[in-house]
Amino acid sequence: MKNLIKSMLIILLICFISFSCKYRDDYDEKQLWEKAYNICESQLILDSHIDWPLKYLLFPEDISRRTTKGDFDYIRAKQGGLDAVLSVAYIPANMDVDEGRILVDSILEIINNQIKTHPDKFAYAKNTYDIERNFNNNLISLPLCLENGMPIGNDLEYLKYLKEQGIVYITLNHDKTNQISDSNFDENREWKGLSPFGIEVIKEMNRLGIIIDISHSTDSTVSQSLRYSKAPVIATHSSCRHFTPGFERNLSDTLIKAIAAKDGIIMINFGSFFLDNECFKNWAYLFYIWQDSTGIDLTSSEGIKFINEYGKTHKIHSDSKKLVDHIEHVINLVGIDHVGIGSDYDGILSAQPSDLPDVSSYPVIVYELLKRGYAENDIKKILSENFLRVWNDVIEISDSLNNMI
Ligand SMILES: [Zn+2]
Repeated sequence: MKNLIKSMLIILLICFISFSCKYRDDYDEKQLWEKAYNICESQLILDSHIDWPLKYLLFPEDISRRTTKGDFDYIRAKQGGLDAVLSVAYIPANMDVDEGRILVDSILEIINNQIKTHPDKFAYAKNTYDIERNFNNNLISLPLCLENGMPIGNDLEYLKYLKEQGIVYITLNHDKTNQISDSNFDENREWKGLSPFGIEVIKEMNRLGIIIDISHSTDSTVSQSLRYSKAPVIATHSSCRHFTPGFERNLSDTLIKAIAAKDGIIMINFGSFFLDNECFKNWAYLFYIWQDSTGIDLTSSEGIKFINEYGKTHKIHSDSKKLVDHIEHVINLVGIDHVGIGSDYDGILSAQPSDLPDVSSYPVIVYELLKRGYAENDIKKILSENFLRVWNDVIEISDSLNNMI
């Protein structure tokens, strides 16, 4: 009898302990989520690569309201706490220089129109002071960036024109080798890195204070850009090759260290094929085998239908944990001062991580960072401070180069 009572008391005690642990876990979880949302609301969040102008060109919708297509609009940006959207003028590699320049101007017009139509929501930003001022005025900054230096042609004067328009960075190439440099998606490695003209472009970008973006570049292009640039060089939307061996579009540990050694940053891409090797293999099948063999565009309704069907039996979506693994990988290699977020939203088809569907998702990343023990001051660096520091460095170096002349 005595033993029976003892056993019952032990069972009751175990039940009580597990109940109180569960209660405490739930309470801790709630606190963590509240903190994550508070950080996103109170701190400046900068995303270094969003293709919303491209999405707008294809499906013009009022981005001040909740749009039906795409990953970005004002409503979801506010939900996620997003304050600075580096707005990408993506120029397809098959265009010629004139077509490329017309497209740059069209995208500039789209951005300008949004700002003029919604001055209570969006604002221009040509430097970090503008970004801070807009943040304090509760406005979302929409600075212009150029993805693919092809429209420069062979004319360095065009860089001055872009600078006058407030360009923040130029991605040297896209999926084809161009007049500036070799692309990592192209088997043609014509320049074995930078072309002679590409070296002049790097120097002029340094002088004008335009940030050099090496996402899409071959390893040789990255190494040579680091060698010739007097300013830090960045990757605006690349992740870590450590998790996707052989995928040159992501950065090797050696290049991450070299970029950091020159005070640059790696802005982690959210696309599932950048984050997870299994997703990478499955998306490679969709891109290079299914799309090529059927001739059906993956962005068409038929293509999307097939992706959804294929996704039922194959892993095509990564998650926030894996994204934070990439952030931590950079931190472990080179410290907290050299990493940020460059989602590539509106440029990654439907390959968003399952719990990061659009620009309302930044609190999910902050939650995961908090859960892994990162302090708010460190998280602030990832959310924007690192990028703003590099941007200021590039402008300072430009000023000193101009003063030397
Ligand atoms: Zn890109």
